[in-house]
Amino acid sequence: VMTSMAHLQEEKLRLQEELLGLQEKLAAQESDELSRSLQLQGQVETLKAKLLEQAQEISRLRSELGGTDVEKHRDLLVAENEHLRQEMKACEGELRELRQQQQVPCQDCAHLQENARLQERLSQLQQEAEEMRSKLVELDLEVQQKTNRLAEVELRLKDSLAERAEEEERLSRRLRDSQETIASLKSQPLQIKYIIKTVEVESAKAKQALCESQSRNQYLQEQVGMQRQVLKEMEQQLQSSQKTAAQLRAQIMMYEAELERTHGQMLEEMQAMEEEKNRAIEEAFSRAQVEMKAVHENLAGVRTNLLTLQPALRTLTHDYNSLKRQVRNFPLLLQETLRSARAEIGQAIEDVHSTNRELLRKYRRELQLRKKCHNELVRLKGNIRVFGRVRPVTKEDGEGPEAANVVTFDADDDAVLHLLHKGKQVSFELDKVFPPQASQEEVFQEVQALVTSCIDGYNVCIFAYGQTGAGKTYTMEGTAANPGINQRALQLLFSEVRGKAADWDYAISVSAAEIYNEALRDLLGKEPQEKLEIKLCPDGSGQLYVPGLTEFSVQSVEDINKVFEFGHVNRATECTNLNEHSSRSHALLIITVRGVDRSTGLRTTGKLNLVDLAGSERVGRSGAEGSRLREAQHINKSLSALGDVIYALRSRQGHVPFRNSKLTYLLQDSLSGDSKTLMMVQVSPAEKNTSETLCSLKFAERVRSVELGPVSRKAELASWPSQEQLEVTEGPPGDSPGTAAPSGRGHASPSPGHLSSRAASIRRKLQTSG
Ligand code: ADP
Ligand code: MG
Repeated sequence: VMTSMAHLQEEKLRLQEELLGLQEKLAAQESDELSRSLQLQGQVETLKAKLLEQAQEISRLRSELGGTDVEKHRDLLVAENEHLRQEMKACEGELRELRQQQQVPCQDCAHLQENARLQERLSQLQQEAEEMRSKLVELDLEVQQKTNRLAEVELRLKDSLAERAEEEERLSRRLRDSQETIASLKSQPLQIKYIIKTVEVESAKAKQALCESQSRNQYLQEQVGMQRQVLKEMEQQLQSSQKTAAQLRAQIMMYEAELERTHGQMLEEMQAMEEEKNRAIEEAFSRAQVEMKAVHENLAGVRTNLLTLQPALRTLTHDYNSLKRQVRNFPLLLQETLRSARAEIGQAIEDVHSTNRELLRKYRRELQLRKKCHNELVRLKGNIRVFGRVRPVTKEDGEGPEAANVVTFDADDDAVLHLLHKGKQVSFELDKVFPPQASQEEVFQEVQALVTSCIDGYNVCIFAYGQTGAGKTYTMEGTAANPGINQRALQLLFSEVRGKAADWDYAISVSAAEIYNEALRDLLGKEPQEKLEIKLCPDGSGQLYVPGLTEFSVQSVEDINKVFEFGHVNRATECTNLNEHSSRSHALLIITVRGVDRSTGLRTTGKLNLVDLAGSERVGRSGAEGSRLREAQHINKSLSALGDVIYALRSRQGHVPFRNSKLTYLLQDSLSGDSKTLMMVQVSPAEKNTSETLCSLKFAERVRSVELGPVSRKAELASWPSQEQLEVTEGPPGDSPGTAAPSGRGHASPSPGHLSSRAASIRRKLQTSG
């Protein structure tokens, strides 16, 4: 039903659009007709103007001629013309009206009637014109009559003139007779006298009569002149009136022709307009009929649709009513559903909570397990590792045989190092050996696993061991352009901490201390000369702490650099010769990493102790005295104590002698338990340092080769040398021929020198993997 309704709507819209289009077309036609009528109006206007001109011409002529009957008649005609023009205007107005009314299909009779009426009027006018023409003829006749009469008058005038001439003649003859008589009389004196007297009397009478007749004659002559003049004037008048009449006749003819032409034009235009109008009306009518038909058809379609829709509507109404009922019931239903949904959601949340709790429990267990496994792994690998690093030959080594390189490496095994000692090659095996060309970066790569374990809460110690000038400080601190482990470790810690920032909150702090002559000093404190004490935590945890040791919180590399600089400045101001001083003291950088797991609240604390040890060279042997001797004793003591502690730890002795030196005591909790230790043994490759190099390597090998088993522990216990003993054992290593050096394979069984380094490596790996 809906679709059919929509369809019908569409149909309706379409029809409306069509209707609009048709209306537009009609409007266009109307405007067309309007423009045409405007054109016609323009023409009419011009005609009007012409007519006006002509009327003016007529009036001018009339004023020239004075009003005659003809002119009056002309005036009448002009007025009639004017009237007709007005009528025409009215007709045009009507035409316009009719055109405007054309939107409604036109009923043509009114137009036709109007047309007929106009035509009637036109014929009437024509009749009138005809009448006027006849009147004009009459007038012509009149003029003719008048002319005839004038001729008669002329004739009579001639007659009277002739009579007058005769009279004159007669009178003049009498005058002559009289004069003759007078003359004859004169000739007869008495008689004549009498006669004269009579004549005189008579002549007086004659004279009077003559005078009279002369004056009469004069009068008559004057009259004749006058009459002639009048005649002349009348002739002139006649001529001019004839001319005017001819002119007028021509004008009338012209006007008539004009009128006829205009009328014809008008008729033609009207006819054309009529035709056009009829055509437009017909077209519109036919279109309207077609449209009507279409509309009718549509209507029929709509009607049938409606008929089919009605039942659908009924079902819809029914549906609507039922829906209405449902809607009325909806709030109740909704409430019920919401209640149940809420209960379900609550249940689900509860489930999720319990699952979460379970997961958290499992996670914690896994964490513990992981740590345990890690510890086990560390235990198996040995948590004390020994690396060797050989520095390059420097300018300070001088030239000649003393500066010759005595250290060589094994191409196949990066854990083996050979030292040329007294013409013989002594081999040592450590966990890893860095040749002189090894970069700071490469060294740090081997160390970074230890550093990161700090973040997991492990304590780590990295020691740089070796004689002065072997590169301890270079390895730990490095140069500004090529920093050592200290700065790289802190940088790594920062980046690691950033990586874990999503789950953990970490705080990194740094302390720097120095141990000189068994005295601990704070390198970052305000009073560096103050000796610090190491104390047990009063909380009974067995933890150690150094009251007053400054701890700087660091967040960036810039912070570290500031701290290092501060430490250096402090160290330098406290001694006269920094180089010498630093070679006699242990420098410690203690980095503490504290973390909190945001989800579990688990807390970890890891300590990274980076120790640049005092020079291991044997000063005591050269018979030093005073402060130099004391220094040497302290250094020997502390380095021996470090060896003892490491030994005790590796051999898992019950007692570890941490307290034997400040250094081991301070690092107690970083050396025990599951802590990790790295000993970086620095050696010089120069020939002149061979004996010190040998000592350092022996120390390294001994530290590394402490066996874990109880038997070897015992054996180790018996053979662990003190720092002094290291000196003593340094003798010609040729006790047993074929053995190149003090063994690197455990003290119980010195390894034969002919063992290939490859085999040694395999054995080492087996050893470390348990
Ligand atoms: P130590 O601290 O053991 O007394 P230094 O670290 O002061 O020794 O090193 C002594 C000299 O040797 C320094 O000039 C140092 O730059 C240089 N040196 C040490 N190790 C290296 C190395 N691996 N590469 C280049 N130069 C080194
Ligand atoms: Mg140094």
